Amino acid sequence: MPVTSEAWSRGWPVLRQLTGGDRYGRGSAAQSRRSRRLSPRTAAATRVVKSVCPYCAVGCGQDVYVQDGKVTQIEGDADSPISRGRLCPKGSASLQLTTGEARGRHVLYRRPGGTDWERLELDKAMAMVADRVVKTRRDTWEWESEGARVRRTLGIASLGGATLDNEENYLLKKLFTALGAIQIENQARI
Ligand code: SF4
Repeated sequence: MPVTSEAWSRGWPVLRQLTGGDRYGRGSAAQSRRSRRLSPRTAAATRVVKSVCPYCAVGCGQDVYVQDGKVTQIEGDADSPISRGRLCPKGSASLQLTTGEARGRHVLYRRPGGTDWERLELDKAMAMVADRVVKTRRDTWEWESEGARVRRTLGIASLGGATLDNEENYLLKKLFTALGAIQIENQARI
């Protein structure tokens, strides 16, 4: 079957790039028939929520696209003075963190001496944490040490992750200092 010049130019991207208006091959010249019909996942979003990538201490800005109450795409936030629209491969894949099958959706607890994880209700887990903090603080409280007033506990420590942002670190420091803990550190500084 003879190939018409129109079919030829539609089918061969290099020719389209050289003869059409898309000289850099970043638009129509690089599209196939199929990709011409596609639209981005972001096009159907009903709202865009500003957020911060949770993976590392750089804190790149993210635009979180939401459709029908579900996150459908996460992209770099061009308004962020930190990252100016860019995300590294980890940040670009953070949609999996919210909707992926590997995401943990339950509180898991392994009791002392236990060999397996058990599911706990969130309220119960929070109450257990609170009880243990109160008991540890009470049992390890020191008013004085070596003749000096210290008013502290060495029984509680905090090690934050690099994914915590400024505001979260501020609140953690405030909470643990108020409890009398002095061992307050963040992984990003290690
Ligand atoms: S996008 Fe990459 S560099 Fe930016 S905060 Fe996330 S993990 Fe860190």
